[in-house]
Amino acid sequence: MLSAGLNIVGFSWITSPAATELEMIVLDWLAKMLKLPEDFLSAGQGGGVIQGTASEAVLVVLLAARDKVLRRVGKDALEKLVVYASDQMHSSLQKACQIAGIHPENCRLLKATSSTNYALSPEFLSETISQDLTIGLIPFFLCATVGTTSSTAVDPLLSLGKIAKSNGMWFHVDAAYAGSACVCPEFRHYMDGVEEADSFNMNAHKWFLTNFDCSALWVKDRSAFVQALSTNPEYLKNKASQANMVVDYKDWQVPLGRRFRSLKLWMVLRLYGLENLQCYIRNHIKLAKHFENLIAQDPRFEVVTPRIFSLVCFRLLPVRNDESHGNKLNHQLLDAVNSTGSAFISHTVLSGKYILRFAVGAPLTEEKHVNAAWKVLQDKATSLLAESL
Ligand code: PLP
Repeated sequence: MLSAGLNIVGFSWITSPAATELEMIVLDWLAKMLKLPEDFLSAGQGGGVIQGTASEAVLVVLLAARDKVLRRVGKDALEKLVVYASDQMHSSLQKACQIAGIHPENCRLLKATSSTNYALSPEFLSETISQDLTIGLIPFFLCATVGTTSSTAVDPLLSLGKIAKSNGMWFHVDAAYAGSACVCPEFRHYMDGVEEADSFNMNAHKWFLTNFDCSALWVKDRSAFVQALSTNPEYLKNKASQANMVVDYKDWQVPLGRRFRSLKLWMVLRLYGLENLQCYIRNHIKLAKHFENLIAQDPRFEVVTPRIFSLVCFRLLPVRNDESHGNKLNHQLLDAVNSTGSAFISHTVLSGKYILRFAVGAPLTEEKHVNAAWKVLQDKATSLLAESL
């Protein structure tokens, strides 16, 4: 019974009505937990769908947006379409552009700097759009991020969304990682302005206790998906679909076949409930704050960008202000820590600086683990600094 229940192939409603109906219901629940605008709920023109990954989510919204604008301006205009995001946007947008036939030179990844804590500047966006319009290009898609991959920067959704709207562009919000935190009222403000968005995405499989894969995507106008992605071969025709009474998720995604992923999310929401999920998130953020405080007490280190969620971006300060040696030193520190096998840190580069990243995100992490990881970091830093004298 268990495997038969899980192993459905729910491409259209008729093949497994329960899979489709439950997906609509749990995504409405999650949308309400995130306080998404009502337009994203399934009762109106919008609704949610579970994609495999955030990369698939941005691809399908880009395809929907592309076809929507091409219906307006004519399909010969493909080479004039321009996409905008900050250079901190996840590489999935670039891949989506490659697949969607957006010309690589029309993919504007606007430089975000430390002056905005690596968030996209609305002024810079406006200027770039104006320049593109002057030379006859067609701005059609803006992607903002709540919680960038490198440093969890938060783009200013409200101002960006207004710019997108005034230019007739599709506005997508990628909150793959940080969306989970927004179920807590005290962090919800990071997605203020989402009412301007056409689509919103968060990965329940990242930080929401749901097994991979489960990427929740909401859209305000589901017909945009259907118009871009629907096919209607004879062998899939059935009364329910033809009467237009049901949602066929095959028209909201790339593959035809799909699994019963909503069952996992249903289980998570029913098992933990909102309060426990909020506690889970808050505890990780508290532990990251604790780590941040430990760093602040050691003058050899610095926190590089303000910590917002459960990721701390930090580094060992370069000796004698030698930035290139500092980069080497931090790289060596990362290798030294990771080779112990007792902690695993990752890295990024921001404004040319090699940065270490400490992320709290595992269900079993406690303060003692954070302290132990910090001890390893300090010990390895002491040895490296002694060697580099
Ligand atoms: N967007 C953001 C902000 C991410 O951090 C990531 C992954 O790290 C992605 C998109 C891509 O996620 P996925 O593996 O679900 O495609």
